[in-house]
Amino acid sequence: MIRIGHGYDVHRLTENRKLILGGVEIPNNNIGLLGHSDADVLLHAISDSLLGAAALGDIGKHFPDNDEQYKNADSLILLQKVNSLLKSEGYTVINVDSTVLAQAPKLAPYILEMRENISKALEIPIDFVSVKATTEEGLGFTGQKEGIAAHAVTLIEK
Ligand code: ZN
Repeated sequence: MIRIGHGYDVHRLTENRKLILGGVEIPNNNIGLLGHSDADVLLHAISDSLLGAAALGDIGKHFPDNDEQYKNADSLILLQKVNSLLKSEGYTVINVDSTVLAQAPKLAPYILEMRENISKALEIPIDFVSVKATTEEGLGFTGQKEGIAAHAVTLIEK
């Protein structure tokens, strides 16, 4: 049995925060994403797509943002926990495709490391993990550098 899942997430950009995407800390003049955890918008979208594929709710349900244990949480650990949860339900992940919407900084130099992090967390080969980056041509909240968004789709099987 194969199932598909979709995930979408947004975080606001703010000063005096690290920018962490796909588990990679990216230099960005001390401007990063605001959130209760490390605000890794890409890993959150992927986590939500996996939970969605299994109809197991969303990351807000499993890792509430009012829970102190998830303050500044490493979202790679949360992704591993999602993978463990799916395994406990008898699912394995087939592949992941994702897109980060960010006007800046340029993400191309960091994509391979992001893919490596995600492949390790999900225990799948790196060529089954896709991370893409695009701008929205200066339009909207990502274009105005007010925030960064991410989309993800995944397949899982049982
Ligand atoms: Zn998030």
